[in-house]
Formats: sequence, C-alpha cells, structure tokens
Amino acid sequence: MARKDFKKFNTGFTCVSCKTENPPALRSERNHCRKCLRSLHVDDETPGDRASECFGVMEPIGLEYSGAKGYVILHRCEKCAKTHRNRAAEDDERLDRLS
Ligand SMILES: [Zn+2]
Ligand SMILES: [Zn+2]
Repeated sequence: MARKDFKKFNTGFTCVSCKTENPPALRSERNHCRKCLRSLHVDDETPGDRASECFGVMEPIGLEYSGAKGYVILHRCEKCAKTHRNRAAEDDERLDRLS
C-alpha cells in the first residue's frame, strides 16, 4: 500500500543542482535541498504522492508563515510551472533570502 511505503521516501539525497549531500530530515520528510532549497517535481497533487512524471527542478519562489505548520516554501517547477507548497525543514538555510 502507498501509505505504508511513505516513510521510505524520507531518505538522504544529493541535490541535482548544487550537489549538496542532504541527510534525512529529523522531524519532517526531506523533499528539498537544505542549501539551495530546490526540489524536484515528483509529486502530483498530494505532497509525498510521487505521482508526477515531470522531474523538473522546482525553484523556491516564496516563503509563507503559517502558525500551525511553521514556514512553508513555495516552489515552482521550471519545466511545467506547477506550484507546490512544502514545509521548511528545521535545518534549511537561506530561508531569510525568501522572506
Ligand atoms: Zn541544492
Ligand atoms: Zn513539473
């Protein structure tokens, strides 16, 4: 079942744009680079569904603050212009650049 497999996606990865090694996040799912904040377009409608076949680079274009969730990064795909909101991880850098 998809739900059961969800956790295995919280693994470290090497960023495709800046080559930073990203360790698994401590409290949330790691879905973007902690250095350049870029992400890959792998989710379709639901964060974590991995249903998209685009694989374009998602550029961080903005930052929102929501009381319950904390900081949320707005990402836009360079390839198809789809936008996604992603919770910022606790060790993200350069968040102040976006705010
Ligand atoms: Zn990066
Ligand atoms: Zn895309």
